[in-house]
Amino acid sequence: MIDIYPDFYKEFKCIANRCEDSCCKDWDIDIDSETERFYMTVKGATGDKIRDKLVTDEYGERVFKAEGGRCPFWNSDMLCDIFIDIGEEHLSETCGGFPRVKVDYVDFREHLLSFACPEAARIMLRSENSYTGFGGEAELSLAENGDDYMSFLLKARERSAEILTDGSLPFKYRLADCLDFNVQVQSILDGAEPQPMSEGKTEGNGFIFDMHLKFEIMSERWREALEEAKENASAKASDEFEADFEKFALYYIYRYYLEAVNSGDVLYSIKRIICAYVITERLDADFAAKGYPLPRMRILQRYSKEVEHSYDNTEALNAEFDRDERFSAENLIALLEEL
Ligand code: SF4
Repeated sequence: MIDIYPDFYKEFKCIANRCEDSCCKDWDIDIDSETERFYMTVKGATGDKIRDKLVTDEYGERVFKAEGGRCPFWNSDMLCDIFIDIGEEHLSETCGGFPRVKVDYVDFREHLLSFACPEAARIMLRSENSYTGFGGEAELSLAENGDDYMSFLLKARERSAEILTDGSLPFKYRLADCLDFNVQVQSILDGAEPQPMSEGKTEGNGFIFDMHLKFEIMSERWREALEEAKENASAKASDEFEADFEKFALYYIYRYYLEAVNSGDVLYSIKRIICAYVITERLDADFAAKGYPLPRMRILQRYSKEVEHSYDNTEALNAEFDRDERFSAENLIALLEEL
């Protein structure tokens, strides 16, 4: 088993009450069974409160439910009472681990940071060439010795990352090329002969905004921002947007492309990046036009928190890709070329 880390991984340190969008905000907090067993033994007022707030959610998970958009243990100084009262070592796996993400592929494990954490997002946005071990010789030799399918996916992921970081092209064309390449990859996975793509049709990108507005949304401010950006079709994103989105797209590719090991589908992850691009590019443009000083980091971070990190929203996106012809590869390529 080898563990692969991006170069920036060790830079992360939680900034706690200086964080502009804490992970103690908006989310229910999963409590793993080992932590729950310990929590059942905690004495005093903190123990009583833990047992009172620990409930089973609609998915059968044991959680601290957010109250008024806040973890019940996030205090008025924006610090964690569990951390203070019983110690950092007794935080749940979710609280102690976030924003670190570990993805296990049997022969190797990849470790990433999540873009939903502002501090992690800042680190990723300022980093260069950071995924050096990913798809490298160590991973490939493990995959090639055991699993042709994984080996093929690793190579396809590297080619996708190369296409997305080809700075000679505007980002929308890189996305179109990446989708085109992955249509061919998908044909090979399906055992089908790659076919030339037909000309796509587009009726604008309003349907992508409409879909995001139907999602589960945590923050009313996010909903308003989506509604306003949808109407502001003429605004232009700032010059720096593409360089930042490139980092987000790379994070996304390394985080999700290999889901195809189970789903058999490489197009879901690429189409989700295209949706993220359409939404965040327009949000950046709308905020820039209004002189609203929200950093691009916060737009990408918030997209990650609202959409990427929601199981329901991700499933809804994938279901629309399967159902709605407007998300076919040829129609998305036509849409990107029109942007
Ligand atoms: S979102 Fe990140 S920086 Fe903010 S409180 Fe959570 S782990 Fe710390």
